[in-house]
Amino acid sequence: MNYRHRVNGAELDLPAGKAVCVGRNYAAHAKELNNPIPKEPVLFIKPNTALVTLGEQVLIPTRLGECHIETEICILVGEKITRGFDQAQIEASIAGVGVALDLTLRGLQQQLKDDSLPWEKAKAFDGACPVSEFVSLDKVANLQQLQIQLRQNGQMQQDGSSADMLTPVVELLVYISQFFTLLPGDLVLTGTPAGVGPLALGDLLEVSLVDHVYCQTQVCAAV
Ligand code: ZN
Repeated sequence: MNYRHRVNGAELDLPAGKAVCVGRNYAAHAKELNNPIPKEPVLFIKPNTALVTLGEQVLIPTRLGECHIETEICILVGEKITRGFDQAQIEASIAGVGVALDLTLRGLQQQLKDDSLPWEKAKAFDGACPVSEFVSLDKVANLQQLQIQLRQNGQMQQDGSSADMLTPVVELLVYISQFFTLLPGDLVLTGTPAGVGPLALGDLLEVSLVDHVYCQTQVCAAV
């Protein structure tokens, strides 16, 4: 694994940890997949073998059915977050904010859901979490006024604001840390806005955390 965290253009000396992900944190996305709006955050984890740098290419498996893209605001944890932290302690523990792709083998996920089985094979496979560079929190005026966008072959596919999250970022970290201690170098993917869809080989993707992070990448086949 060659993934390294980068914040404000410099490599950060933190391990690549787990990525705790949140499902259905935007009402419009829950509806587009015919899922109920959850009463509490839906959590799952991608291991660090899923992390790759969001660079010139996004590599997707081609032997496991349709691969969907979910574009998500991603939080980099800089200091350990445990149960009982308050809002100020949580904010002080965040090392950066960026974008990550929650790659999802949608057909396989549906099959697993239908069989009441866990989703890991569909969500946590090698390379399932391309991660952008981060900016530190002092560069972000308000965590709940961030805009993320995905353009696919020039067409706007996802355009969401963190203002529409069902559970805002800091509350999400409070909730997560009741179950999972967050360690320096861990990531939190905060859920996808509406507009998820399949990737095709050769697709040109433009991913941005508007005003902060921009990345152009092409979809290629994983070997
Ligand atoms: Zn997601």
